[in-house]
Amino acid sequence: MDVTPALGLHIQLHRLRPDVNVVIHNHARWSGIWANMQRVPPVYDQSSAYVDGPLPLYNEYTGTFEDEDKSLTAAKALGDAKWALLANHGALVVGKDLRQAHLRAITLEWRSRRAYEVELAGGGTPMTEEQIAAVALPDQNGFPFLWEAMARRELRRDPGVLE
Ligand SMILES: [Zn+2]
Repeated sequence: MDVTPALGLHIQLHRLRPDVNVVIHNHARWSGIWANMQRVPPVYDQSSAYVDGPLPLYNEYTGTFEDEDKSLTAAKALGDAKWALLANHGALVVGKDLRQAHLRAITLEWRSRRAYEVELAGGGTPMTEEQIAAVALPDQNGFPFLWEAMARRELRRDPGVLE
């Protein structure tokens, strides 16, 4: 994981998006496949639709986040979005708090995995914008107790994670 080089992006995002308190940048497996394909995964099921809104694909990225100019461009590419795919790189998820950012991050990963599986199985019919909007969770509430449950699970797996 490139925690230190990604610092520039985090700083730019905090400047450009005062609403954002949490920035998650990762190289997760399933969203990474779509980032590498330079395609936005369609929404095929309800769990993939928990988070709605545009998913920008930033496809002019060629360096690392160490370059401040590129960091600024990536942050600008995100715009007002909740998340973005970074072509041939990974994912970028923002939120007002950990609970919201976590829901967005796991929804992106679920959506990416499900879309990959559906297309592997021969394809399906993506949900419409209206259908997605109808099942998306309101950002204010998120998914009750999901963050807490996941945090407890992680602590059980690795009790030293907070040390
Ligand atoms: Zn990275």
